[in-house]
Amino acid sequence: MKKNIKKYLAIVLAVLFLGEQLAGCVQSEQTEQETKLESRTVDEIELEPYEAEELPPAGERKTCRAEQYEMEITLDTVKQQIRGNSTMTITNQTEDTLGQICVRNYAASILKEKGTGTSTISNARIAGTDQMLVTETKEDSSVIYLQLGERELKPKDTITISLDFVTDIPEQKEKFGYWEEGENRVYQLSFCFPVTAMYENGKWNENPYVFSGESNYHSPAVFRCTFTAPEEYTVAATGEEKTSGKVTEIYAESIRELAVVASDRMKKECVDAEGVEVNHYYLDYKGNTEYNKLSLMAARDSVLLFSRFIGEYPYKELDIVQTALSNGMEFPGLVMAAMPDVENIQKLDQSASYTSACSMIAHETAHQWFYGGVGNDPYEEAWLDEGFAEYCEDVLYQQSRLASAVEAVKRDQERLGSSEIWGTMSDEEFHRDMESQIEQIVGERFIINRTYEQYQQEVDTYSEYVYTGGSCFLYELQNAMGDGKFFSMLQQYYRNWCMKEARTEDFLQAVRAYDNSEEVNQIITKYIA
Ligand SMILES: [Zn+2]
Repeated sequence: MKKNIKKYLAIVLAVLFLGEQLAGCVQSEQTEQETKLESRTVDEIELEPYEAEELPPAGERKTCRAEQYEMEITLDTVKQQIRGNSTMTITNQTEDTLGQICVRNYAASILKEKGTGTSTISNARIAGTDQMLVTETKEDSSVIYLQLGERELKPKDTITISLDFVTDIPEQKEKFGYWEEGENRVYQLSFCFPVTAMYENGKWNENPYVFSGESNYHSPAVFRCTFTAPEEYTVAATGEEKTSGKVTEIYAESIRELAVVASDRMKKECVDAEGVEVNHYYLDYKGNTEYNKLSLMAARDSVLLFSRFIGEYPYKELDIVQTALSNGMEFPGLVMAAMPDVENIQKLDQSASYTSACSMIAHETAHQWFYGGVGNDPYEEAWLDEGFAEYCEDVLYQQSRLASAVEAVKRDQERLGSSEIWGTMSDEEFHRDMESQIEQIVGERFIINRTYEQYQQEVDTYSEYVYTGGSCFLYELQNAMGDGKFFSMLQQYYRNWCMKEARTEDFLQAVRAYDNSEEVNQIITKYIA
């Protein structure tokens, strides 16, 4: 997710990196203003070569989890419901014999909080048999246990379970909900398809659904879904989607969850980013042409930039889908893009901040590497994806001077008479502020690897620590290690843990394999408990 609260510090931190990166390509005869706004391509950004270190192979987590989903889903735009069937093939890789399977239905929590609508799971059974399963819903109604009875799940055993669901879609501009604009509708469908929880370390993951953060922790699985919607609807989904008439076939080889956006006002524009298909699904209004163009450009720039600095994009395509969320939200291969600060959804060219849009897209696109690629438990250690995404946005993208970023700053200055701080200060101005800012905000210690719950004890410390702090930590490491070593480490860490789930200690192991100096260890002590 992208936090609205912009932390000045994290932006300021970009300077040192930029200073070095830009040194080689800035022409001295240009004025300072022109220099700042000179755009480059990803190929023009020099990346210091560094011989990669061997990392110990990523240990396999012993879990029980779904490896394959088959879903048949119908979107009912009259009753405002989704209903269907979910068949889950679950493998037990632990040493434990399991008498029950935990299913998560986050929609139940969302509807309960909203105080409207219901979500019902029924007909739970062992697929291909007539053995029905007793279900038990916990106090947190998103946690449902299916009792296996005599058919317990032994180590290395696989079971296929099937269940039906009917869920009301609330009218709200949230991750799960629908909203109307004139005669048109947009359905934002995530956290509403029943999935198997992760079983790890002797227990099923019962992280509660959280409204201002994330708690969804899932391993990659194969998803084969058919999604039926009225013919006039355009459907964007995680994985690859193909629509014919009312039915969209969705297939994904290795994604952590399913999300769908459907609308009768949505159109698609595609662009290639060195083999990655980047799709921009936009709401088709004349007053949004420039905004849409820039959004697509930012998505492409982000894919190219992060591919170069971090590693290969983990999917075949990226769908950037315009939604009415106030913060962007990442899904595997799909971003629910936000339209914050928007007064009129049909006139984005006039009122929306292009710089906000581009940096939000950069942040959510970065999650494709950190959350989609390298997974983590966001309830336990959110910094492992949010801190990295924030770093990619603030340090890599905003200061990259790629065409989309430069264009956004220029246009915001022209249209709105202002823009966000980034891109309008000289590198030296950033640089001067940096040390004092770190000292002031980060101080002696600034622990970023606590659980979501622990940060709730003080008001709004979550985003400051997890997002800003995470970004600062990575930035300080980069400075201490030097660019060549830092990015080589980041690439190895990504390669090692892609499509697996990492923990803080796994990242630290990668860092120390590259640099176990006192300076680096002091930085680690400052941020990591
Ligand atoms: Zn995020």
